[in-house]
Amino acid sequence: MDLKDDISSLKGIGEKSAGLFHKVGVFSLMDLLRYYPSSYIRYPKIIKVKDARPEERVALELEVQSEASLRHVGGMSILSFTACDDTGLVSVTYFNSPYLKNAIKPGMKRVFFGSFGFKGQTARLSHPKMFKDEEYRELGNTLMPVYPLTKGLTAKTVTKAVRAVFDAFGDLEDPLDEDVRNRLDLMSLRQSLYGMHFPVDEDGFIRARKRVVFDEFTDFLRSVRQLKEDNSKTPNHYVMIESAEAVRLTESLPFRLTGAQERAYKDIVSDLASPYAMNRLIEGDVGSGKTLVACLAMLTAVKNGYQAALMAPTEVLAGQHMAKLSELLKPYDVTCTLLTGAMSAKEKKQAREDIASGVSDIIIGTHALITDLVEYKNLALVITDEQHRFGVSQRKNLSDKAGGGMPHVLVMSATPIPRTLALILYGDLSITVIDEKPSKRLAIKNALVGPEYRKKAYEFIKKEVAAHHQAYVICPLVEPSEDESRAGENVEEYSRKLAEMWKDDVRVGVLSGRMKSRDKNAVMERFASGDIDVLVSTTVVEVGVDVPNATVMMIENAERFGLAALHQLRGRIGRGDLQSYCIFVDTSGKKESSKRLEILKNTNDGFKIASKDLDIRGPGDIFGIRQSGELGFRVADIYTDAGILKMASEYVSSGDAGGEYNEAGESTIL
Ligand code: ADP
Ligand code: MG
Repeated sequence: MDLKDDISSLKGIGEKSAGLFHKVGVFSLMDLLRYYPSSYIRYPKIIKVKDARPEERVALELEVQSEASLRHVGGMSILSFTACDDTGLVSVTYFNSPYLKNAIKPGMKRVFFGSFGFKGQTARLSHPKMFKDEEYRELGNTLMPVYPLTKGLTAKTVTKAVRAVFDAFGDLEDPLDEDVRNRLDLMSLRQSLYGMHFPVDEDGFIRARKRVVFDEFTDFLRSVRQLKEDNSKTPNHYVMIESAEAVRLTESLPFRLTGAQERAYKDIVSDLASPYAMNRLIEGDVGSGKTLVACLAMLTAVKNGYQAALMAPTEVLAGQHMAKLSELLKPYDVTCTLLTGAMSAKEKKQAREDIASGVSDIIIGTHALITDLVEYKNLALVITDEQHRFGVSQRKNLSDKAGGGMPHVLVMSATPIPRTLALILYGDLSITVIDEKPSKRLAIKNALVGPEYRKKAYEFIKKEVAAHHQAYVICPLVEPSEDESRAGENVEEYSRKLAEMWKDDVRVGVLSGRMKSRDKNAVMERFASGDIDVLVSTTVVEVGVDVPNATVMMIENAERFGLAALHQLRGRIGRGDLQSYCIFVDTSGKKESSKRLEILKNTNDGFKIASKDLDIRGPGDIFGIRQSGELGFRVADIYTDAGILKMASEYVSSGDAGGEYNEAGESTIL
């Protein structure tokens, strides 16, 4: 057995479970080990019935009072009995667990952990976990993993499968030597992976996580370094000169380029003319006008006789870029071609033919543009939008695609990274920072509110819609959550609720990552063209989407998101001349989270937010709050883990990190 084996090779994983695992991106056994919990729940202290609050998950030590009774409702069996402590009586129910009937005996004492509530006057515990007293006290310190699940995949299945992998592999080969681990105070690979899934206590988890974060950073830093090394050796096979058309385009715009856009464009032109292939990162806050810079670069390539490709992280964004660039480039006799998974087989075939024959000048799509079967005639410039990470293996793919040698690479990102961190992360890359936004734009007005403000917010949105503006409503979840501990607003129910409330006055649309690409694109197009007034969406709109007529964004359960992610979301509004408004709904009722969110309320400057976020967030925030993961890290957070990043950077530079790359050029630290 090998960690690269498919998970169906695991005992107990049939075709159906394997299918569910595939759905969440787990294919190999290693994927499974890297399928980390998204958060952890701590078992709470045992309290008395009289102190339990509705809608809380509580632990109660109760004595069973009655025999369990079993009834059937629809296809479901319901088992219930009463139990009490010296302060109150609770009715306990279990669903589809008929086997418990014989196990429950009056007089039996157990600790019940589950969600508490009332039905009329009766206190209820619904489907609680049951423990013996000693058992529960032992658990007291541990953290219970919560996995990002999908319908049909239960935490139990995941836990069992993960355990089975650990059982099957006595030890995992560790790419880090023991003396290095000792020196840097890092756990072994096996210990750390085990500790991520089954942390004994908070300290253990933090240590396990440290190793995982270290590995993610070293991987990243190595590929950046490799990129640079490749590049310094890569001669420029596609020397270009500035094109008259690009200059004409800038002159024909209804606005002037900002100074920062101008500088970025100059940097690019000089790279394209230099003896070495371009390898540049353009970092600019949301709304700083990066698309236009990309457009100028591509027009330059085309007028020098080459093809250029633009890759977006989502098909929605690719579609938007297609529409926008075709419009901008219309007067310059440039053929843009879109190639995405959502297109029909026939359309794709046509697109591929056009790309191979050279009919297409500019090709727009997702990363499939370089991983797929696409053949280019003479690709000389590749731009990735909203992504930092451009792996070594991807570059290898690229040079194969281009045929005549490594094409120029331009990476555009909006993740605001404080300069100190940027230097560590990209010290070796050429970077242009776009630190200026188009002037004349009105600053977004922000409101940080509690759930009681919702009604007012709906009225406000309705008013904006009546003025022919549009709005986003963002929810953290797609569908009602089965896990009550992670309850939050979901787009399915929320959109229904809004549609019922507003009836014909407001046209409500829904967008989520769960939808088929084709449907997502259709919804996004309708929103962009104004056929949808209010778009209820998950964070899929986070990256890059540009609908300048949208003036309101209401973010539900804002406390759930990292500040950087919230800032990216907010960047979807305030993109035109209109006054825009962002409403953050904080449902946590907690001081710490409102303190974090205050930062967003008080500034619209992404770089400031990033450095404040760094100051204010402690290690405690690693439970639950996630950044958008744009850098491709699953666990590491450049803000809270800046210390480990520094350590990883020193380690990679020190030389004893070695050059462990496999054929694909990916580092072999799994
Ligand atoms: P981002 O940097 O987030 O990708 P975009 O490139 O989507 O931003 O630009 C945001 C909006 O600003 C677009 O509607 C674009 O047309 C507009 N824009 C770009 N450059 C300028 C400029 N120099 N002056 C005014 N508006 C601009
Ligand atoms: Mg953009």
